Amino acid sequence: MRLTACVSSQVGCPLRCSFCATGKGGYSRNLKRHEIVEQVLAIEEILKHRVTNVVFMGMGEPMLNLKAVLEAHQCLNKDVQIGQRMITISTVGVPNTIRRLASYKLQSTLAVSLHAPNQTLRETIVPSAKTYPLEAIMKDCRDYFLATSRRVSFEYALLAGVNDKAEHALELAELLHKWGRGYHVNLIPFNPIDGTDYQRPHKKSVQAFATTLESRKITVSIRQTRGLDASAACGQLRNEFQKHPLLTNSDIMQPQIGMAVAC
Ligand code: SF4
Repeated sequence: MRLTACVSSQVGCPLRCSFCATGKGGYSRNLKRHEIVEQVLAIEEILKHRVTNVVFMGMGEPMLNLKAVLEAHQCLNKDVQIGQRMITISTVGVPNTIRRLASYKLQSTLAVSLHAPNQTLRETIVPSAKTYPLEAIMKDCRDYFLATSRRVSFEYALLAGVNDKAEHALELAELLHKWGRGYHVNLIPFNPIDGTDYQRPHKKSVQAFATTLESRKITVSIRQTRGLDASAACGQLRNEFQKHPLLTNSDIMQPQIGMAVAC
């Protein structure tokens, strides 16, 4: 059985993507290597099953805590025996870090949260995009693929009426074709959260978006969202740590740190 652990790299997140519950809760601190690894061990302990895959898609921007993320990656690979290919490192895009990650030539998947097919729209969804233009991200992703031969996965949160129209799918396909091959698109129907007007798209729009990409020879998957009721689906991890960042060390060791939820 495949068991994926979705781990956090920070308590909160400073990047404040407009659709993200974690971003709305602010930022407290980076997690240390052992705190990242322990999320995986806690899941194994609770579920009495080996974790087979790890995705750095919980709270926080992994590239803003890259040293600890790389140390945890090494530990998960060497000590916990999770293959590098079974580990995905996700980012919304932090200048210079994709290149740095590529230099380690890991056999892990890079997942880039794109969420828009052009710079103007992207800046409205991901405010930090202002510091890292789309063209620069695409160039760095192409270089990552060339350096590692690992395909890059583009995460695209579908927001009803905002970025989920046919024209957006066509523009996205054009963008990806311009930058070559080795790409995959993962569509994520938005999970409703408090404090935002964004709506979850209709199933038909999600399928139409995927079909348009596929018709342009782009490989696509649609993430099946679990955890909606528990506020534990992607983009929804926000908990007592963000509301009360001065918890004690013993509190921090409790599993709800974003130990995540297989997502
Ligand atoms: S989507 Fe990721 S990078 Fe953006 S605010 Fe949320 S946790 Fe941070």
